[in-house]
Amino acid sequence: MKLGRNEPCWCGSSRKYKHCHLGREKQSPVDKGTIKKELNSFNSKKYCSVPESQKTDCSKKIIKAHSVSKSSSLKAIAVDGHVYSTFKTNHDFSSSKRVRPKKVGINQASVFTGFCSNHDKQIFAPIEDYAFDTSDVHCFLVAYRSLCRELFVKESVANTFSFARELDKGKALSEQIMIQKMAKYYGSNNDLTMGDLRYLKQKLDNMFLCKEYGDLHHFVIELESPPKAMTSAVVGYTVGFDGELLQTISNDPKNIPDYVFINSFSSDGRGYTVLSWLEEHSVSNLKFLKQLQSTESISNSLSTFTFAMVENIYLSPLWWESLNESQQEKVCEIYAQGAMEHTKNTVLMDVPILDDNPLIHVTIVGRFTL
Ligand SMILES: [Zn+2]
Ligand SMILES: [Zn+2]
Repeated sequence: MKLGRNEPCWCGSSRKYKHCHLGREKQSPVDKGTIKKELNSFNSKKYCSVPESQKTDCSKKIIKAHSVSKSSSLKAIAVDGHVYSTFKTNHDFSSSKRVRPKKVGINQASVFTGFCSNHDKQIFAPIEDYAFDTSDVHCFLVAYRSLCRELFVKESVANTFSFARELDKGKALSEQIMIQKMAKYYGSNNDLTMGDLRYLKQKLDNMFLCKEYGDLHHFVIELESPPKAMTSAVVGYTVGFDGELLQTISNDPKNIPDYVFINSFSSDGRGYTVLSWLEEHSVSNLKFLKQLQSTESISNSLSTFTFAMVENIYLSPLWWESLNESQQEKVCEIYAQGAMEHTKNTVLMDVPILDDNPLIHVTIVGRFTL
């Protein structure tokens, strides 16, 4: 590579080569402590997610809000106060090892510092203090909290991706190119998603303020026992259960794909998965639901979808430890797609039944028919 010292650097940083990558292979690598601190900076961001007009009622204290309820949900699957969890956002750019779930205490699991103590209590009391009842208000609140968390995470990791561009110090040119490419790829994906989520947030904020929930539809699946994999997330997915693409995702920030909110939790000893979407995002979601209904086991299909699309997952230790080595490997392989590996169109197909939780009832909340 012949690049003049004063030319723009090849990495696209818009700095001059001499101030950026010139001699980078001889620089001292970023030490492990700094990397760890940066990756954990997620924990240092704190704000209340309520709409601007409500911020005057915020308390001073930003608390650790649970995206999956601790008392009703995590406790239902925990063993000795622990569940298994996975974090897709903690990328290690220099290794291609597959992520395996790790044990975490339920006080720390699923928390995010995205609400003040006042609003966390006030807004979510209906679903925290009472059993889930499939009403439009309950469904809305479940979806709203997952969106606030999703946006919070994307905003928090945005800094991590710019930091990742420093991780090629002391490495050979070929590795520098690889690391810059990865950081750029994940960084711009994250920026696009952040823009989409802000759009969704504005929509839901308005519903929240007017108490008009009609534009958000829900498909509520009630299961005999708590889901083995619990989650709270908002995803713009592409693949369906038939191996065909349901939608394509473009790089145009104005072109917002159809998103689905997925929340799997427990209430009163039963299991629930609530899939929610905006009226304007119905096309892919209705197709997706039709396919879901015709799969062999809805609970297994939803778990597979969660492993493939979501990073915020909490697993029942009893269930995870009951799987044999090759079954665990299968779950990790599905999970790795979309994280460190490309998502295959067939990711949701031909998956063994690892989580069969009998279906009690499906409730449709909204103006749609399947
Ligand atoms: Zn550079
Ligand atoms: Zn607040």
